[in-house]
Amino acid sequence: MNERTLNIAHLYPDLLNLYADRGNIVTLVQRLRWRGITATVHEVTHQDTPRLSAYDLVLLGGGSDREQEIVGEYLFKHKQEFKEAVESGLPLLAICGGYQLLGAYYQLPNGQKIQGLDILDMYTSAGTGLPRLIGNVAIETEYGIVMGFENHGGRTIHQHRPLGKVLHGHGNDGESGHEGVHHLNIWGTYIHGPLLPKNPQFADAVLATALEYAGHSPDLDPLDDAVEESARRAFLARRMPDVTSNPDVS
Ligand code: GLN
Repeated sequence: MNERTLNIAHLYPDLLNLYADRGNIVTLVQRLRWRGITATVHEVTHQDTPRLSAYDLVLLGGGSDREQEIVGEYLFKHKQEFKEAVESGLPLLAICGGYQLLGAYYQLPNGQKIQGLDILDMYTSAGTGLPRLIGNVAIETEYGIVMGFENHGGRTIHQHRPLGKVLHGHGNDGESGHEGVHHLNIWGTYIHGPLLPKNPQFADAVLATALEYAGHSPDLDPLDDAVEESARRAFLARRMPDVTSNPDVS
């Protein structure tokens, strides 16, 4: 049997790395290593051309409006390749600013629009005079409770399946009760934290999808996540006690 290995692309790590979104890459690589699976991380900066056919997983982090504007221009040049790649199943995880860029556009508070990749039927608008949506967030998902931190001015509107239902915090637009998106093998979310160290079950779902896309078995040996689990319990108990006391949440 051929050895399992993954090629992970971190897009624009120099521009999109708000709240240490890079920690998501560290988590993915370490959870593979603990299982004896190797990974190569391709740091793709604005000087490089993304080689989407060479990757098994792509990560886009969050960024300020200024950085998003720069990244938007680079990404837009590869719009068609992205569309084709994700439609053929390329796993893509996008956080906050990166998530916003998957839609048709992100409209800044001054009305200017940054064009997105348009790979999701979705748009984001920051509106004028609206407060930013900031704070701890917990959502109910198929991977259990996913938790972290959000800080965005943009309100995202789409009709795709959300990543989860908001238990605490704001989510996509502060009103719908929906957070993120899960369409094809694309996950978009406003959750920094960074996301994956705090949510190992979600990290493993991303890894399993990427392994399968790479033509490998998606089976992952269980890991001892006792430290992660106790950090999750402490985070909920101290910062979002309303979630733990909600009888609808197991
Ligand atoms: N600049 C975007 C906004 O404020 C995204 C911010 C982020 O990535 N945290 O909506």
